[in-house]
This record gives sequence, C-alpha cells and structure tokens, in this order.
Amino acid sequence: MKLVLLGPPGAGKGTQAETITRKLFVPHISTGDIFRSAIKMETLLGLEAKEYMDKGQLVPDGVTIGIVEDRLSQLDCDEGFLLDGFPRTVNQAEALDKILAAKGAALDAVINIDVPQEMLVERLSGRRVCRCCGVSYHMLYNPPVAEGICDKCGGELYQRMDDAENTVLNRLAVYNSQAAPLIKYYENKGILHNIKGDNPINMVLADIGKSLGLNWV
Ligand SMILES: [Zn+2]
Repeated sequence: MKLVLLGPPGAGKGTQAETITRKLFVPHISTGDIFRSAIKMETLLGLEAKEYMDKGQLVPDGVTIGIVEDRLSQLDCDEGFLLDGFPRTVNQAEALDKILAAKGAALDAVINIDVPQEMLVERLSGRRVCRCCGVSYHMLYNPPVAEGICDKCGGELYQRMDDAENTVLNRLAVYNSQAAPLIKYYENKGILHNIKGDNPINMVLADIGKSLGLNWV
C-alpha cells in the first residue's frame, strides 16, 4: 500500500506511522530521516541539500523531490511505503504523482490526522524542560511530582521558546496555510481519509485501519 501521512505538529504522527508501517510491512519514509541519510552517504543531492541547510536556507523543491525519488526507487518501496513529511506543497504532490506514474503506480490513500487546534496547543505548549539535566516533562501527561521542580535532580523546569503558546500558534498557522491546498488536492483526487485525531491513540489507529479497509486491531 502506498500511503501519505498528513497532520499538524502535535497530532501524534510519529507514533501512528511507526505502528502503521509495522502492520503493513512497508518502510516509513520520513523526510527528516532520508535527508540525514542522503547527507551521511554524501549523495549528490544530499550534498546539495546540506549546502542550503548549512546556510540556514530552505532546501529547494527540486532537491527535496530528487531525494524522495531516489528513496522511492529502492527495492523495499516496491510493495508500498508510508511517506511522512512529504509532500508539503501541491507542487511536490504533483511531482510525487509523476514519479509514481512513471512506474505505473499511484498513491492508494492519504491519511490526514485532524486534531482541534486547542488540543494541539495544549499538547505542544505543555512541555517543560529541566535547566540542569535536560529531562522533559508535560504539565498534563507527565507532570513532575512538585510543580516546577525536576524529579530527577531538583533543578528548575522551564518552557522552551519553541513551546511557548505564541510560537506554537505561529507554527500551526504556518502548517495550516501550507496544508490546506494540499488537503484539497487529495480530496479532489478522492483519496483523502480524514481521521479524528483527538481520540486515544489506539482508537485513532483503529480508525486508520478501518478507513483503509483493514481490520488490524
Ligand atoms: Zn533535572
């Protein structure tokens, strides 16, 4: 099965991706991982991507698409894959369709994990990190015994800038503006599966299975 997984930061994509790929025996292709491995293996495109990243610039579509294409041409992707973090734009989605069409293939489904914004903010802004030992907690899901104090070392807990509510809202706004046209694109193709992501993890996984016609829980 050839799948794309979409969802905002905080939607729990990583956990779902891990289980889906284990159940379907397909590789989990996260763009972060393939970028790191292309750079490590010093492929032509990997080196090109590294140049942009070292300068703190966005890697251009052509390079990103090339790296994904290289990865999809490996044997383990013949029977299927789960793409995570790609495509991010309609341009990339069209390129992916072309790459697959050239092999006589097409995406089977796009899973979109949908979580209400309030819940994402709650999940993402609840993180606290110890200043001394770096252990992280969550105010709701994994709180320390004493408020504001690290269980392990007694250090002070603080909120990273990345996790501050304003930053989180900003990240979500950026995600939404990018994802909306992409979601529309797949909706128009009739392969979009919207999954309610504010349920417990197991229920989300069961819903994903059902939407793919698989009874795997
Ligand atoms: Zn600590």
